[in-house]
Amino acid sequence: MSADEQSFPAQQQEPPGLTGAMTPTPDHGEESYRGSGRLDGLRALVTGGDSGIGRAVAIAFAREGADVAIGYLPDEEEDAQETARWVGEAGRKAVLLPGDITDEATARSLPDQAAEQLGGLDVLVNNAGFQMARRESVEDITTDEIDRVLKTNLYALLWVTQAALKHLGDGSSIINNSSIQAYQPSSSLLDYASTKAAINNLTVNLAAELGPRGIRVNAVAPGPIWTPLQPATQPEEKVQKFGQDTPLGRAGQPAELAPAFVFLASPRDASYVSGTVLGVTGGKPVF
Ligand code: NAD
Ligand code: MG
Repeated sequence: MSADEQSFPAQQQEPPGLTGAMTPTPDHGEESYRGSGRLDGLRALVTGGDSGIGRAVAIAFAREGADVAIGYLPDEEEDAQETARWVGEAGRKAVLLPGDITDEATARSLPDQAAEQLGGLDVLVNNAGFQMARRESVEDITTDEIDRVLKTNLYALLWVTQAALKHLGDGSSIINNSSIQAYQPSSSLLDYASTKAAINNLTVNLAAELGPRGIRVNAVAPGPIWTPLQPATQPEEKVQKFGQDTPLGRAGQPAELAPAFVFLASPRDASYVSGTVLGVTGGKPVF
């Protein structure tokens, strides 16, 4: 397809962004994902599970037989309800956990609430994330922005993981959402990119520490994926050409990420996989 055919219409939203305001609507696998019992009976918490990659993961997990709790910001209630509807249609239980995880007490409360309402916890997907790319230089980054990026992407990941560990046991796993930005950082995203490099590093150490407890820890590194995060945080001209610089020449859809998360969550398929980062990047290198 030509670059024109791969372009997105100009559009902007305020963070965190909503799915309903996006053109075209992202594909979360609603019509395409088919489960085969890979996660039968498991209980998962997906932070940021209302929209984008998190919604695709929640839908796929449910179709693979898992019950799913999702964290999200209160402003995203309509997206969260839609994800819950798809989980329910798959015949699985959905638990909605609104709250701002840049607040420590809120972040730490998510695993307890998920475990209480699901009867336990087997899989933690640290997927919530924030970036802000509408600025020219490192000199333009405000302290509020630094706080929001680092607290959402790193502090909250650590808080949620710490609180989840008392629920996770032999055969369970943690999957962190990294990024191509950990490998090929863009200067306009330098604070965000640094958190994603740190997430890769954390994944290795968590896998080392938790392996003896039978808990696997991995990460997925997405390339450019069409989600609310993009029109909410990138300048309009970047949104229009989003993803065209990949070898496959286009942005990915959230649905194209879900199988990687299902694989890493599966105690059978990924029984010996821990401490790794699985790239789903449209061809950009993750080494
Ligand atoms: P998204 O906006 O759909 O999902 C991000 C979610 O994070 C939001 O829905 C929101 O619920 C949650 N979140 C953000 N701040 C929060 C807070 N303070 N409290 C609670 N929840 C909060 O966008 P997405 O692209 O699906 O993002 C999911 C993950 O994928 C992020 O970690 C992102 O960094 C990563 N990622 C995305 C891309 C991409 O191109 N879209 C590329 C690489 C990595
Ligand atoms: Mg959202």
